[in-house]
Amino acid sequence: MRIVLLGAPGSGKGTQAKKLMAERNIPQVSTGDMLREAVASGSRFGRQAREIMEAGQLVSDDIMLGIISERLSQPDVADGFILDGFPRTQKQALDLADLLDELGQPLDAAVLMDVDFDVLMKRLTGRRTCSLTGKLLNVYFSPQEELDACTEAGGELIQREDDNEDTIGSRLEVYRTQTEPVVDYYRERGRLLTVDADGAIDEVYARLLAVLSD
Ligand code: AMP
Repeated sequence: MRIVLLGAPGSGKGTQAKKLMAERNIPQVSTGDMLREAVASGSRFGRQAREIMEAGQLVSDDIMLGIISERLSQPDVADGFILDGFPRTQKQALDLADLLDELGQPLDAAVLMDVDFDVLMKRLTGRRTCSLTGKLLNVYFSPQEELDACTEAGGELIQREDDNEDTIGSRLEVYRTQTEPVVDYYRERGRLLTVDADGAIDEVYARLLAVLSD
């Protein structure tokens, strides 16, 4: 299965992609994770990427095309992938179509994770990662026992650097102006599936599986 997961920051793309990867063994390709790895490596590119990400802006289409071309040419994604965070602009959607044509790997669907603005804000401002387990948690939505389990075991609940309110505002605005046209791009081509992504992780996952099997 080759799919693109679309949706605003906080819509649950990463969470659902990780579940699909774990349960269906389809690799998740997250451009955000790849960029965060570059930032962590401290390379020159990583330092540039960090500034852009902290401002809530997008890394240039040319750079992203280079990154995604290299990633999608690797053998582990030859039989399928879940793209999470790419494409984010109309240019990236066109580049992806060309790339997949060249690779002879047509996309099965683009799935929009649809969530109201208020829910997005709580998901983003409340999002934390446990430093010990890497588990994604949320101070508003996760059971208190899970949050306590992390801190009682000596872990810290870490907030992503771009999950502060200023950056979140820019990221949502960038989504509205630059990424919503990508949703239209797939809709106009009859490739768009929509999932109501408001609700518990397992509920949303069940809806995702349902639209993918239709
Ligand atoms: P994410 O984890 O998908 O929310 O991505 C975090 C940040 O990485 C975004 O706010 C952008 O700054 C950058 N980024 C991730 N994917 C892309 C992309 N396809 N194009 C441009 N910038 C991206």
